[in-house]
Amino acid sequence: MIKRPEYELPHTFTHERSTVTQEQLDRVIGEFFEDAEVKVSVSMQGQRVHDNGAVILGTKAGPGYSLSNLVHEMAHFVEIDEGRMAEPGWGLRVPEQWAYNRMCFEPTTCQATVREIRVMAFQLNILEYLGWPGDENDLINALQFMPDTAFVPLETGVSAYGDDTPEMPYQDTLKSQQRWRVNECRKYRRQNTADLFCTEWKRRNQLLKERRKRAL
Ligand SMILES: [Zn+2]
Repeated sequence: MIKRPEYELPHTFTHERSTVTQEQLDRVIGEFFEDAEVKVSVSMQGQRVHDNGAVILGTKAGPGYSLSNLVHEMAHFVEIDEGRMAEPGWGLRVPEQWAYNRMCFEPTTCQATVREIRVMAFQLNILEYLGWPGDENDLINALQFMPDTAFVPLETGVSAYGDDTPEMPYQDTLKSQQRWRVNECRKYRRQNTADLFCTEWKRRNQLLKERRKRAL
């Protein structure tokens, strides 16, 4: 039985944007967080790191709360290189440059999208393992808003906006890029299995515990 208040669904969660249920929380916490160094704060957004080095994950992303959001952050913890496991925002920084007097995000590859695809591959496998499978196409579709989308290739692997890109309607370009993302995700799902996740989750939580002990 879960008694810790941070693992209880707040009463304010009757909002229509929240799909996370107490049953889901009890399941994911019982399975992964009972002895984990990483903690959950249900109403929190994304990932945070406290001054004492504690890593906290939430169920909120944008305006919505869901099990899928929490599992997404858990997948980042397992996917990120070990040096960044306890860095705020997983230590993910985007290249920036000054242009027209403003700080602009200037990606030159789609590596940010590819990282999210690897994370989502874990996410989809874990959601399935927990018994609440996610919608692959829906989840991956959210990546069309990544700032590096211009560098996501077409389904054939050809650059979407290069000199030798075949002419096609804009909508077809977007659909073809989406098919490339979905295919990549399916490829990574064969690697980023629930088994691998569980092994890495335990190992990394232990590693984090030892690091925090040494830092005291
Ligand atoms: Zn992410």
